[in-house]
Amino acid sequence: MKIQTKAVHAGDRKPAQSQIPVSTPVHFAASWICSDQAEQDRIFGAEEKGFAYSRYANPTNEALEAQITALENGHGSLACASGMVALQHALTAALIDRPKRVLCARDIYGATIKLLMDVMGPFGVETTFVDTNDLAAVAQNLAAEKAADKFGVLLMETISNPLLRVGDIPALAQLCRAHGAALMVDNTFASPLLVRPLELGAHIVVHSSTKYLGGHGDTMGGLIVSDEQHFETIRRLSRIAGPILGPMECFLTMRGIKTFPLRMERQCRNAQGFAAWLRQQPGVERVFYPDDPQHPDAAVIARMMPDGLYGGMVSFELKGAAKAEVFSFLDRLQMVVKATSLGDVHTMVLHPWIASHRDVPPKQKERMGLRENLVRFSVGIEALDDIIADVQQALA
Ligand code: PLP
Repeated sequence: MKIQTKAVHAGDRKPAQSQIPVSTPVHFAASWICSDQAEQDRIFGAEEKGFAYSRYANPTNEALEAQITALENGHGSLACASGMVALQHALTAALIDRPKRVLCARDIYGATIKLLMDVMGPFGVETTFVDTNDLAAVAQNLAAEKAADKFGVLLMETISNPLLRVGDIPALAQLCRAHGAALMVDNTFASPLLVRPLELGAHIVVHSSTKYLGGHGDTMGGLIVSDEQHFETIRRLSRIAGPILGPMECFLTMRGIKTFPLRMERQCRNAQGFAAWLRQQPGVERVFYPDDPQHPDAAVIARMMPDGLYGGMVSFELKGAAKAEVFSFLDRLQMVVKATSLGDVHTMVLHPWIASHRDVPPKQKERMGLRENLVRFSVGIEALDDIIADVQQALA
């Protein structure tokens, strides 16, 4: 079954690499009825391209996988049921023939920390958290003398959740390659419109497509995109473990991807305007947004995001606010949606202390620099004036 595809530009700035289907039939089949046993034999034996069972491959999933492979400029990809399962599956594949040790960025999504500690830890995966913006600290960790102390994977986010730090992917990739570790990058916040980590030397990219790629808050999903070295293992293990996304969710994600560059660019512009306005507000202590010349990673950002697009996420601290004041600020918001997600067309807000990072141990929150007065905005596609007006009345 061949799906009609048409190449379109991912926005004006990138080459025509996204393959966006014009029509995407949704194949709900769990299995394909076999009329000819010899043909099924050839399909199972990989001598002939075809479909047998949806856990192995499904045409709708393949269409989505082709899109994200093109968008991230990878070798191949796998559509998974959520961002978390994509992370777990990618880690399993990368660690299968490497030391079971993960060097993980300190500032990272709370559930990723819990995945490493509570899900992978009991199966013997050891994790060390490091400031990935400190290249000397990363190098020191990676340069283990004994085989038993070597790391298998360095895991980070391109733009970190929730403090919007930006690590030097080319430098970290070089360090990983020198020490036999795989660099795995969660590119959810940046999206391939801003940064393509595989082009910068990363081995594996993971997305929560629940966010910017799906873009409408109506479907969960996770995507793994990898280089050639890792793809066979990712695919082979998925045929057994079955972390895959359902075809309806693949269809919804593809429908979202049709407008992804338009939405993302608008969200970036709105976020930049919102961050600039926030910096003028007396009730705001610190604003976290990558366009800031005072940003601790400004030099890396200038190199990695040369197009002047810095993402749709803005975090800020409310001056002198304890939890109760943060809650009443959030409760006063009228247009901005108070919900646990991001990347939707609506502007959304979240209080990381009680939500995305709730279960992160207090000491770890302190080390990453996460404070109780931080709020995290996912800026939507509304008129910027409307977003500002709502936040202004809530701050007042
Ligand atoms: N990665 C990042 C940066 C996230 O913010 C999230 C969820 O918020 C995830 C991964 C997990 O994605 P999902 O909720 O689709 O499992």
